[in-house]
Amino acid sequence: MKYPSVNTQLVILLGNPLGHSISPAMHNRVFEKLGLDYCYIPVQVTPKNLQVVFAGLSKMNVAGFNVTIPHKIAIIEHLDALDPLAAMIGAVNTICVKNGKTIGYNTDGEGFIRSLEDEGKISVQGKRIFLLGCGGAARAIAMTLAFQGAENIFICNRTYAKAEALATEINLKIRYCAEAVRALPEYQTGIIKFCDIFINSTSLGMHPREAELPISEACLLEHLVVTDIVYNPHTTRLLAIAEAKGCRIVHGLGMLIHQGAAGFKLWTGVDPLIAEMIETASALVAG
Ligand code: NAP
Repeated sequence: MKYPSVNTQLVILLGNPLGHSISPAMHNRVFEKLGLDYCYIPVQVTPKNLQVVFAGLSKMNVAGFNVTIPHKIAIIEHLDALDPLAAMIGAVNTICVKNGKTIGYNTDGEGFIRSLEDEGKISVQGKRIFLLGCGGAARAIAMTLAFQGAENIFICNRTYAKAEALATEINLKIRYCAEAVRALPEYQTGIIKFCDIFINSTSLGMHPREAELPISEACLLEHLVVTDIVYNPHTTRLLAIAEAKGCRIVHGLGMLIHQGAAGFKLWTGVDPLIAEMIETASALVAG
């Protein structure tokens, strides 16, 4: 292992708490394998200290940042520039420092779409998509789906008003393709049968509540590609049932890996080693 020097480019993860993060291991392994003089460091920071910590770090030998809960929205006002998709999403998970300027991006949606292409062997262009959930992750996914040419996005959420607001925003800001759906079985079944892709973006089924199922089994029809962004456990109950019914499935870990891979490319200009990232991330999640 090469030790850091003053020439080492740092990538900093800002969030709170960060104990669970697999990103440092994933990125440092690929920096080392590719012989890149970069180092990825988690920095736990409270909302109160975000501004001062970010201002100081941005003046150091820093190539970029990852930003996670609870700072993805709050960080925006401290940036010099914002990528158009990140501006639409209204949240930033990746920052590049170029010529002393900080530029914010959101790679969550792109990471999700790459994982669909990679593991699900499906492109979103022209597809009808049922998106269950309407939180922060769903917002990035829905906006990116619309940006990348999905034909219809049906957004279904326990709190219907949130689904309605997101659908309206997408239709106004990107193009007319989104519709809100009430979280009632009779509405869900009627629409899902005409969809190509089903996405669970709620936290239902996440450890330690693995038994929870976000939608009724009857909705998991064989022709669907079923994806769950929950990655702990690796195969959620939803995915296990969908696979047993003959659906193609896409694990949540792929989104995590590919959003990181997109950031890696932005900081270094180099394509990361996806296989190494998958191996590291899978071992950590399994552990
Ligand atoms: P969030 O902003 O808190 O949103 C949670 C969503 O789940 C909301 O739509 C919420 O509905 C819904 N929900 C929660 N409990 C529910 C229940 N009992 N019944 C029905 N709906 C319920 O969370 P997030 O940041 O979007 O993250 C959601 C999940 O995705 C988490 O498990 C997170 O770990 C995972 N995630 C994975 C990745 C990845 O890279 N794979 C990235 C980000 C997040 P209401 O609006 O009605 O409250």
